Amino acid sequence: MFPLPDHLILLMILPIGDRMKILIVDDDPINRKILSQVVSDLGYESITVNNGADALESIKQKECSVVLLDWMMPGMDGIEVCRKIRMSDSENICYIIINSARIGSDDISRALKAGANDYISKKTDLIELKARIGVGVRTAQLEKKLIDLNNCLKYLVRTDSLTGLLNHAAILKELSMELDRGRRDATSTSILMLDLDRFKTVNDTCGHQIGDEVLIRFSNLLTQSCRSFDRIGRYGGEEFLIVLPRTDDKDCLAIGNRIRTQTETLQIDNVINSMSITCSIGCCTTINSEKHSFSLIAAADSALFRAKKAGRNLVMSCK
Ligand code: GH3
Ligand code: MG
Ligand code: MG
Repeated sequence: MFPLPDHLILLMILPIGDRMKILIVDDDPINRKILSQVVSDLGYESITVNNGADALESIKQKECSVVLLDWMMPGMDGIEVCRKIRMSDSENICYIIINSARIGSDDISRALKAGANDYISKKTDLIELKARIGVGVRTAQLEKKLIDLNNCLKYLVRTDSLTGLLNHAAILKELSMELDRGRRDATSTSILMLDLDRFKTVNDTCGHQIGDEVLIRFSNLLTQSCRSFDRIGRYGGEEFLIVLPRTDDKDCLAIGNRIRTQTETLQIDNVINSMSITCSIGCCTTINSEKHSFSLIAAADSALFRAKKAGRNLVMSCK
């Protein structure tokens, strides 16, 4: 009936298994030419560099997922490049194949211990070389899929599935973190506890799906009204919690009132023209962020309760 929320569309287009690029690192131009041809025969794109420093830069730029790495090079050798890649905190976990003229077991062991995934002698015929590059591509693709899926999971575990805002647990964690930061910096932290007014009537009159749409539109309004460093969460049902770092009581009240008046003008595709959407807000500020999240929320909650009792569509500060 309604379009999917933005955050779900975003999840669906997350890149999984991009086109693989293979980085060839070799100081010998003939080797670079042969390896480029092999990579091209396999249907992959290659990037070629002739030294370790350029290889590290290319990996930092996330240009490749598989690296064919020469050992003996002037300056930084392949083993050092390998160690540096594994020590870096880059998210680009590439599959490294050391390609060397050295064929002793000690050499192979050294290369693998330095972080290489595979070792191919320069004397290896092209059929085996292609098969091993194939293994590298497969492994790199799998690893990339795992990283993408893991990022999706990290996102999902923190996110409210209907609105795309932070969920209950995530907003509480953000509040604790902001209070810690505020305590360290001796700055005030404010919160807003918001609740849609007579929301049950929207569901009862227009149906649950329209009710969901109102929640999504209201969430989008909150996102647009807040600063990038504010934190917005769906506390539960039709209740929302906003954390305002480095914000005093005066600004907190002003932000609350801005959101309250913007909510009055919320349009839901002519579906509920006749019905006005309003919200009540309780706000609370802790100077130097001294209060614990539990008492801050309790205070904002009781201010919200007073706003409801006083007639709704109001912002009240905690006493
Ligand atoms: P008040 O002004 O006192 O807050 O009245 P209210 O009707 O908003 O509050 P009440 O607690 O009586 O009802 C809250 C309603 O919110 C009831 C519940 O079905 C609805 N609700 C909670 N979560 C969702 C949801 O995810 N989708 C929809 N459509 N409705 C929801
Ligand atoms: Mg309500
Ligand atoms: Mg409620």
